Amino acid sequence: MSEVKKHDTPMVDELKKGPWPSFVDDIYTYGEKHNKQSSFDIMAQLELSYKHKETHWKHGGIVGVFGYGGGVIGRYSDQQDKFPSIWAFHTIRVHHTAGKWYHTSALKKLCEMWDHRGSGLVNFHGSTGDMVLIGTVTEQLEPVFFDLTHQFHWDLGGSGSNLRSPACCMGKSLCEWCLYDVQDLDYELTMHFQDELHRPAFPYKFKFKFSGCPLDCVAAIARADLSFIGIWRDDIQIDQEAVRAYVNGELKPNAGAFSDRDWGPFDIKKEVIDMCPAKCMYWDEKEQKLYIDNKECVRCMHCIAVMPQALKPGKDRGVCILIGAKAPILEGAQLSTVLIPFWRPEPPYDDIKEFIYKIWDYWMEVGKNRERVGELIQRIGLNRFLTDVVGIKPIPQHIRIPRDNPYIFWKEEEVPGGWQRDIKEFRKRHPA
Ligand code: SF4
Repeated sequence: MSEVKKHDTPMVDELKKGPWPSFVDDIYTYGEKHNKQSSFDIMAQLELSYKHKETHWKHGGIVGVFGYGGGVIGRYSDQQDKFPSIWAFHTIRVHHTAGKWYHTSALKKLCEMWDHRGSGLVNFHGSTGDMVLIGTVTEQLEPVFFDLTHQFHWDLGGSGSNLRSPACCMGKSLCEWCLYDVQDLDYELTMHFQDELHRPAFPYKFKFKFSGCPLDCVAAIARADLSFIGIWRDDIQIDQEAVRAYVNGELKPNAGAFSDRDWGPFDIKKEVIDMCPAKCMYWDEKEQKLYIDNKECVRCMHCIAVMPQALKPGKDRGVCILIGAKAPILEGAQLSTVLIPFWRPEPPYDDIKEFIYKIWDYWMEVGKNRERVGELIQRIGLNRFLTDVVGIKPIPQHIRIPRDNPYIFWKEEEVPGGWQRDIKEFRKRHPA
């Protein structure tokens, strides 16, 4: 085995300091153990980038595997003479499992293959959701793909202007609040849209993300072009006995998650009632009873998260479909907007697939190059998108900022028995 060539990297070595784990330590330790020249060369190239204040990865040609248009991101060094072991350092996106569950034997096999065919560096997981194998040369791409698909029966994820790897939270496999089977919907749509995942034909990227409840653990609302977020439309289930147990200090709030610090006795008014963004909760001290005006509840889950043994989401469950999140450099981040307030997902989800095709057909025809669907909606207006594309009438839930900026306006007298009057009545009956 030939000796590896080490380099001096004083600036990079600074990143070894501090109480947190250091990627520099990890990469050097790995390089020593496996005698990998690439571990030392990428650190040396990084040192050079710090010195020159510019990246030394250059835009190269497009690389990929036969039959696929995405899944590999080409990376070439512009310092190939100095660091020949990383002349190419391509990134491979491996499609993650729904909910990111793996058997250790599968991960061991993957790591062995990657030690052999690549740099040995892996990122679990990239922000798209994929498992990211960082750094290999062009000649190794087809062998890696062959091993992944034939040995492990795994697949590449999406990259470029195609459907990116759909991602979901851990769903019913771990969480009591999951309001629909996120893993099933994620898996079904991933399998159904294989062509869109591997053969870029869109104006730009398109992401699906599935969260089991409004806590939105995969941050779908901020990152996905189409978000599926679990929701209920009836009343929050209340166990008044358990509420009283929280109030009397017999149960720990937040399931004891923050009990490493002494926060003082639980104060339902301060920690729940006053924190409700819809101001639709009322704790009757005399009756020792919690009231919720469910029409007003915006399903933020705060009260449920604080008192999980007392409150549960309602029983009439489904998904809220939102559209258009993005974080473009020029215009800044934009959250999704509600498209369908409630949809009951039923396998094999043919109605959802049809609905998605409708959006894609329009976007592929009218969208400009590198225009996300959210930007298209900004350009043509949500009203037109709803009526012309999706074929639904705009309703009050189609708002950008709840209770602040509706696309639809009405006068109080136009809403007989509307929520404004009811909430006044509720507050009159239950003064804070
Ligand atoms: Fe208020 Fe949120 Fe609880 Fe609804 S879920 S009652 S909005 S705290």
